[in-house]
Amino acid sequence: MNKTSVVAVVFEAEAPREAADRVLRVLEATRSQWRWQDRSLLTVHLEGAPTAAQSKEIGLVPGVACVRSLTRLLGKLPPVTLPNGAVIGTGTPAVIAGPCSVESERQVLEIARIVKDAGASALRGGVFKPRSSPYSFGGLEEEGLRCLARARDATGLPLVTEALGVEHVDLVARVADVIQIGSRNMQHFPLLFRAGANAPGRPVLLKRGFGCTVDELLQAAEYVQLGRLGAGREPGGLILCERGIRTFEPSMRFTLDVGAIALVKDRGCAPIIADPSHAAGERRYVRPLALSALAAGADGLLVEVHRDPDRAWSDGRQTLDADEFGRLMDDVGRLTPTRV
Ligand code: PEP
Ligand code: MN
Repeated sequence: MNKTSVVAVVFEAEAPREAADRVLRVLEATRSQWRWQDRSLLTVHLEGAPTAAQSKEIGLVPGVACVRSLTRLLGKLPPVTLPNGAVIGTGTPAVIAGPCSVESERQVLEIARIVKDAGASALRGGVFKPRSSPYSFGGLEEEGLRCLARARDATGLPLVTEALGVEHVDLVARVADVIQIGSRNMQHFPLLFRAGANAPGRPVLLKRGFGCTVDELLQAAEYVQLGRLGAGREPGGLILCERGIRTFEPSMRFTLDVGAIALVKDRGCAPIIADPSHAAGERRYVRPLALSALAAGADGLLVEVHRDPDRAWSDGRQTLDADEFGRLMDDVGRLTPTRV
């Protein structure tokens, strides 16, 4: 049986409308469905692979910026290097740590210093917060981004923070070094595409939906990759994150699926880290989950830390204090002596 493939065609911003018709005509004989991803990128399903002549002809259509044949973009994505030189995706774990929510400049500065001293590679902190209850604290928004930027200035730690909606992508990309997509948004497809297409080309940290399969996670990741392609970038700039799924077991907040980590590592498709904090729901389970994730091959951890967890404005129960985080980092160092 003939294998199918996908051709991705990126158009220039001012491409004439007929350009897409001309592309589709070149592929007429073997194409089936086609789809616009945003307005810049057309993907076309083909029976078999495009011929060299077809690819060349498409490339010559006025308004076409580039054409690429792909079976799957997520073949083998490269590790992600952060501005401070930390690398995520080599199997040597990097630890991203910080508060669930940014509460004030002082709070995030204190925590940034704590996690930096303990050896963290990057600072996390939510400023656009997805909350189950509409009455819970929703984050400091732009003011929170300013606080994060000051914490980076003071410590040199790269910033990881969430874009909750499509309208946040540009705002977050201006300040953050990594754009986080939360579990609840893993299948918010326009957000995935736009995050991948962010103008400065920041890497994306994509958290697994707690009701989603590994395959769905990998398909979501392809949307991010298509966004990059649409913005004229090479595949990459992606970190997956296993943060626990909802199972019939109610004893912990979620069930950390360490098998998913082993699976993704086995397929070698993209860097993957683990978030033991949101899986555990309680701080005493964070350490065992973190270590089991690393034993399964995780490329790093995302951990919630606060100077005074019981007073945190969100997720205090699952948040480590400075001493607990220090002990976790010691254990991580013992398990994986080459930690970055
Ligand atoms: C977070 O990491 O800030 C968060 C909200 O986690 P999740 O999307 O995994 O629930
Ligand atoms: Mn949280």
